[in-house]
Amino acid sequence: MTHTSAGEAADFARKLPKAELHLHVEGSLEPEMMFELARRNGVTLPYASVEDVRRAYVFSDLQSFLDIYYAGCRVLMKEQDFYDLTWAYLTRAAAQGVRHAEIFFDAQTHTDRGVAFETVVSGIYRALEDGRTRLSITSGLILCFLRHLKFKDVYHRAREAGLLAVAHAGEEGPPEYVWEALDVLKVRRIDHGVRCVEDERLVGRLVEEQIPLTVCPLSNVKLRVFPNLKSHNLKQLLDCSLLVTVNSDDPAYFGGYVADNLQASAAALDLSREQQLQLARNSFVASFLSDESKRAYLQELDRFAAQASLKTIS
Ligand code: ZN
Repeated sequence: MTHTSAGEAADFARKLPKAELHLHVEGSLEPEMMFELARRNGVTLPYASVEDVRRAYVFSDLQSFLDIYYAGCRVLMKEQDFYDLTWAYLTRAAAQGVRHAEIFFDAQTHTDRGVAFETVVSGIYRALEDGRTRLSITSGLILCFLRHLKFKDVYHRAREAGLLAVAHAGEEGPPEYVWEALDVLKVRRIDHGVRCVEDERLVGRLVEEQIPLTVCPLSNVKLRVFPNLKSHNLKQLLDCSLLVTVNSDDPAYFGGYVADNLQASAAALDLSREQQLQLARNSFVASFLSDESKRAYLQELDRFAAQASLKTIS
């Protein structure tokens, strides 16, 4: 591959209009901001420098990542901190072609430390409002519950209140977790779900009901769900006609934002531009946007595709 075509491939992945559906806002805390907020709030970090933090980002599994992730969260204390964190994500996302983002936030991690729920939500919400007006990124918020709490009841109450449910399943855990998420928690979307391919009947159900999977390739490699990107099953999932999307999960920790994930996957798995377009199309279809908003974004995507193919012909 020549330098020009690698550059063009990166440019295509970045400019492709897309939605991001699996992003933990706390996981977008870059080491530089971690230090800045630690200084601002007088929090002592267990790291000497930004480089020291980056060196710690080699994980053996999910738990080793969570240990560092929770340590990082300790610098988030005030409303402005949550604003700054969310705004930094949105500006990066805008540069990566994100037009719509559905963002997880981990309220318990903060309320457990004595930070008020309102502080967290107001900061994030204010940044999302600015994202709408200044960056033209629409957005939604997804409240996270930690796995050790009683799930079924919480999900039931959330659905009763008219909220839409999603769940992380089928990443490190087996396909049975995905069945459980569908049948017990009655989720509308599966986060990760890559291990569904181990169960043919499950794949059949996910395809038939077009239940979206929010796949995070760089996260999967960092947390050793796959040894490397070349062995990732993203292309296989697409070939099964699953409604698969590409996302960044915890980009500050896993080495890339959403377009970086797309570009790295495209390079490792030799994804065509049509397949990348399909992934972008899926991201809007799988979102919780209204049908009208979905249509508008899909039209924008069609215009982009038409322009892109014109460019390759000329
Ligand atoms: Zn996640």
